[in-house]
Order: sequence, then C-alpha cells, then structure tokens
Amino acid sequence: MSLTKPEAFDLSTKQRISTAIGVIGLIILILAAFNVNFPYKPAVLSISLLMITVGIILFTHDLYLGKHEGIKNDGVMFKSISSRGLWAWISGIALTGFYIVLYFEAEWLGLGVEDAKNTGLVALFDPLSNLLNGGPASQWFVYGTLYTIAILAFGYKFLWKYRHNRYQRLRTFSVMFFQLGFAFLIPEFMSRLNSDSFNLPYYDLKNIWPLNYYNFEQYRVDAFISSGDIGLALLIFGVASIFVITPILTYKYGKRWYCSWVCGCGGLAETAGDSFRHLSDKRQFAWNIERWVVHSVVVFVVLMTTAVVHSYLGEDASKYWLTKSTFLILVAALLTAVFAWTMIFKKEQLAKDAKYGAVGYFVIIAVLFVMHFANGTDLFLFKAEPLRKSYGFLIGAIFSGVIGTGFYPIFGNRVWCRFGCPMAAILGFQQRLLSKFRITTNGGQCISCGNCSTYCEMGIDVRAYAQKGENIVRSSCVGCGICSAVCPRGVLKLENDSMNGRIDSNEILLGNDVDLMTLVNQK
Ligand code: SF4
Ligand code: SF4
Repeated sequence: MSLTKPEAFDLSTKQRISTAIGVIGLIILILAAFNVNFPYKPAVLSISLLMITVGIILFTHDLYLGKHEGIKNDGVMFKSISSRGLWAWISGIALTGFYIVLYFEAEWLGLGVEDAKNTGLVALFDPLSNLLNGGPASQWFVYGTLYTIAILAFGYKFLWKYRHNRYQRLRTFSVMFFQLGFAFLIPEFMSRLNSDSFNLPYYDLKNIWPLNYYNFEQYRVDAFISSGDIGLALLIFGVASIFVITPILTYKYGKRWYCSWVCGCGGLAETAGDSFRHLSDKRQFAWNIERWVVHSVVVFVVLMTTAVVHSYLGEDASKYWLTKSTFLILVAALLTAVFAWTMIFKKEQLAKDAKYGAVGYFVIIAVLFVMHFANGTDLFLFKAEPLRKSYGFLIGAIFSGVIGTGFYPIFGNRVWCRFGCPMAAILGFQQRLLSKFRITTNGGQCISCGNCSTYCEMGIDVRAYAQKGENIVRSSCVGCGICSAVCPRGVLKLENDSMNGRIDSNEILLGNDVDLMTLVNQK
C-alpha cells in the first residue's frame, strides 16, 4: 500500500458523469422538499427516480465491468466518503437531518395534516401512491419508495462487485426480493383492499416482533381480528413467527436467514451500506458496550410489550380465556423457563458479564412482577403508554433511523443491527446457544492479513479466531459471509453442522495435521 495518495483512486470521467446524473435526480427531490411545486408530477417523479437509479448503474459499470471478477476494495481509506472524510460527514449530517424531519416534522416535507392536501416532496409521490394503494402519499410512502430504490440500485452494484461469489449473489437477490415484494408492493396492494368492513393494518409481512414492536398493540390486534380469516391468519402467522418459525430457522441456519437474507434493515446495510462496512469499531470496549446495550433493549421491549398487552386485556375470567393475570403468569413462566434452561444447560458457554447481566435482569423483572401482584403498583412502575412512547421515540426512531442509518458513513453500516436491534439480540442469543451455524477456520492457512476483521461489519475480530483455528460462534455474527469472501487464503467457511464440539475455544493453531492437533489437545 502506498502512503501517498494514488491518483488511480480518483473518480474517472465516466464516474463523475454518473455521479452528476444521480445528483441531478436527487436535487429534483430536494427542490420538491423545499416546496417547489412541479407541474406534471408523474413525469418529474419518474425522471428523478430514474436519474438516481441510472446514475448508480452507470457508476457501477465503470467501476467493475472492465475489471476481472473478484472483490475490489482498493483505496477505501483514500476516498473521503469511505474514510470518515469531509464527504462522509456531509452525507452523515444530511441523512441524519432527513431522518429527523421524516420522523418528527413530516409537514416540512409537505405532508398534509387534518385533511389538507399534500404539498412539496410528499405531493410529488402522490401519483405513484395513487397507482399502488389508491390514496395520497404519506411521509412513510416516500421513505419506503426511496428505501426500496436504494436496496435495488445499490443491490445491483453489490451484485457486480461480488459477482464471482454464489452465496453473495443469492442473498442479495433475496433481500432485493423481500424488500420489493414483502415490504413494499404487497402491503401497498393490501391497503388498497381495505374498506369499512375489512381494515388490515399496514403490514410489513416479513417483520416480526420485536422488530415490529407495535405488532401487538390494541388497534392492530383489533384490526386483524375484524378483518376475518385473512386478518386472523396474519395474526397467527405473527405469533407463530416468534415462537415456532424463527427458532426453527435459527437452529438450522443461524440468524443469517433473517439478518442477511430477509430483513429490510439488513438489506439496506448490505447494499447501500456496503462501502462503509470497514468502519465498524473492532475494539473489545465496543464489544462490551454492544452486549450491554443490545440486551438492555431486549429487556426494555419485553417489558414494554407486556405492559401494552396487559393494559387492554380484560379481568373477568368468565368472559375471556386470556385475562390480565393469566397473561402475566404466562410471561413470567416463559421468562423463567428461558432463564432456568440457560443457567442449567448453557452456563459454561456464557461469559462472566453475561451471567451477571442475566441474573441481574431476571431479579429486576421478578421484583417488578412481585410488586405489581403484592401492592397493585403499575406494572413495571410506569403506565403502558409512556413506556411505549419512550420506546418508540428512543429505539424506534432515534436509534434505528437517525443514528442507525443516518450515520452509516461515520460508524459503519450495521450500528443499529449491532447495538440496538432487539430482534438481532434474540436471534443472536439462540445462535450462540442453540444453533448448528458456525464459521469454521482453517488456521494453518491464515496469513494474518486481517482482511476478514477489517470488513466484518459487526466488528468481530475474525482474524483472532482464524489465527487460533477456532470456530467463530458469535451472537452478533449476521452470517453475511464477507469475511470468507475477502479472505485470500480460503480460511473461513460458513457451515451448518452438528452442535457437538461447535464451540471449541481450547483449540490452538497448529496447521492442518489432525494427529498433531489431537496430540497437543491431550497434553
Ligand atoms: S464474522 Fe463474517 S459472516 Fe459474521 S458478520 Fe462478520 S463478516 Fe459477516
Ligand atoms: S482474511 Fe483470511 S488469511 Fe487474512 S487474517 Fe483473515 S482468515 Fe487469515
């Protein structure tokens, strides 16, 4: 690597032209956001979205088409946008500003309130919204459209970059498919079916509690139940996803089936965020913070959802099979069962701070339950609504949107998945303790180049495991497979196999000689 700035890493003329085309498309949207009232909205919107997409496609062609297959991460630390330079900060601040307006001041984007007509940016999307769902656009429709275009266009770029790698191609097609179909088009068409007698809530079919933390709020449950068989089927699917489908898939394949193949947050991180994956913090300190923060979010979402469901259940056992008390007893029994199973069967696989954390949180929740039953205090000391609002504000908006996506160019592309997503934490807990998935390492081949650690978006020091010939079984690993793809020596392999001997932290680097390994392990 040269310490001087190699000229070859500057943008080529074609790349500059492609960037200009994309930026002009973006400027049209920005002008609309500043209330420029364009005539012929369908044409203007089409031109704008087309220019953004074409800009990304042409850029991709110039970047990868003339080169041999194989990953080209040349010069990432020389480019301002991917090395926390000026452009990274400008993009981070602009994205964050957009998220803040989107979540908290949608009228600034032109959202019509109290039956007023949309103006500005939201009005520009009205024709497309009308076409898909039969109604005017909302700020979420604008966001969903841009989000989907980002995954599709940057997914195309990703496909060219990793075109030699079948695993990367398949999972990228998968996230593009799920975003376009299940997260965007199908919910739009479903809302077109709504009427006075059939009122399905806007539903991202691939989102599961706790990522969809509002899944079991009263208005949604009522809407599902009042929508007949389809509504009931979707409600049952939601519950089955949590307790049956998710655990089975994670047991067989690890959490990658969701985090890297299905989830929209992961989809955006893998495609639009690909250029920032090396920015994830690899320090031990970051790993410690990650574990405490993400598991605290899980505890928060469990308490909040329990309080919300508890608040709308009835008390009369002769009228309802699920009363407030029965529900609390079921939740307490489930939490106790998980805690007891972990402590009895998996204790040796938990680090010391994980044990302390589990015991601490279990005691706190138990005390809150006892106080509620004994003294009749508010469940978890607060009413359900303030709890839900705080979660929605702190985790649902600030963390997942503003910090998680807005700061891709500064903190890396998986900040939300790593530090804030309760779904990732629950799947990770299972991946670590009850799954067949692991990354095996052929330690004798490792040359300690560090590519794997550099490009691990979850901040895992993959090289440390590879050097010891130790399997990687980490809760946070989303199974993106990039560590394996960038390894020049074929050291790393993503596998689903027996659970026996999966966590093998006693093994040490001794090459590939099995007899020698056995000999030393016997010492
Ligand atoms: S360890 Fe490898 S597969 Fe897991 S998140 Fe990191 S790069 Fe992806
Ligand atoms: S990329 Fe491969 S060779 Fe390089 S440190 Fe990682 S495992 Fe070792």
